[in-house]
Amino acid sequence: MQAVLKDSGLKVTTQRCKLLKFLTQVDKQHLTVENIYKGLNAQGEAMGLNTVYRIMTHFEQAGLVIRRLFESESAVYELSGKPRHDHLICLTCGKLIEFSDPLIDLRLWLAAERHGVVIDHHSLNIYGHCFDCKKKLESKSGQ
Ligand SMILES: [Zn+2]
Ligand SMILES: [Zn+2]
Repeated sequence: MQAVLKDSGLKVTTQRCKLLKFLTQVDKQHLTVENIYKGLNAQGEAMGLNTVYRIMTHFEQAGLVIRRLFESESAVYELSGKPRHDHLICLTCGKLIEFSDPLIDLRLWLAAERHGVVIDHHSLNIYGHCFDCKKKLESKSGQ
């Protein structure tokens, strides 16, 4: 943890180490500040919401995490360093699925090039209803 913090140019503090450790160990990715705060405190790590918020901002600036903003939700953070990916989001249950498709990436590159832009990065969020939710919706309306 300490090496990771140092490499990213951040001062090593106990709280930063704890938070980073939590992020690398937790199963769920795409966490809000609130999720992280609750998760830490559930593990017996008393850390204030403001502290978590501040540290996550530092982590983001240092490139350790990526901050993402999806519709109808507060910002979520995920560790950087994962392969580039896009997101599918269920508008009903909030399920978040990561995917990547080289063909989409290629099309985006071509489209950008056509408009005289070299892509630095992009993020693609696709909103819909997962099959489970769709089934539930249909059974409700089709009685
Ligand atoms: Zn759903
Ligand atoms: Zn993701």
